Amino acid sequence: LFVTVEGGEGAGKTTVLDKIEVALKEKGYDVIRTREPGGIRIAEQIREVILDVAHTEMDSRTEALLYAAARRQHLVEKVIPALEEGKIVLCDRFLDSSLAYQGYARGIGFDDIRAINEFAICGSLPDLTLFFDVDPAIGLSRIKNDNEREINRLDQEKMQFHRQVRKGYYKVMDVYPDRIKLINANQEIEDVFFDAMKEINHFIDQ
Ligand code: C5P
Ligand code: MG
Repeated sequence: LFVTVEGGEGAGKTTVLDKIEVALKEKGYDVIRTREPGGIRIAEQIREVILDVAHTEMDSRTEALLYAAARRQHLVEKVIPALEEGKIVLCDRFLDSSLAYQGYARGIGFDDIRAINEFAICGSLPDLTLFFDVDPAIGLSRIKNDNEREINRLDQEKMQFHRQVRKGYYKVMDVYPDRIKLINANQEIEDVFFDAMKEINHFIDQ
């Protein structure tokens, strides 16, 4: 079972995934937890390359290709082998981030992002995707405890950009209405976790 969690900054993806991981392990499932961009050495290095420069310095298509390259390596090296061993893979971000951020918010368009990502993933879509939908104002206010580079980077990206990302995710939901479940991430983290587990349990039981 391949589960991905998506959403804008400060939606609670990482925090809630910690809880989901514990809950599923307590139920006896074999779970691996990973993230994009990253999750393995090569992809973590690509992540550094992307996140260490201002978005004004890196061309959007270069960025999109790097995300897709990191995605491919992570998928073949870590995700697919774990799925073949019957594990539940919980991944913080995946394809839909590229569609929302590069495809919509950066304006490249879904068609080109889908094309390069189809080359990268060859049909390996998640079984279930939880979209943590958060108002950017609430999301960004949750970031405060993160590291300084992260705060500077997010400050540079204007609120308008984060609104575009959110809109992008809504459009992605139109493309994949069955796979993606919307979770209200404006709620307290405990409630976000509760709603997320409900979707995962529902998927497992069906
Ligand atoms: O999920 P996490 O906060 O670790 O992601 C790091 C950053 O990478 C995010 O803040 C987001 O702005 C950026 N990102 C992006 N496009 C993607 C994936 C992530 O701009 N496709
Ligand atoms: Mg996170």
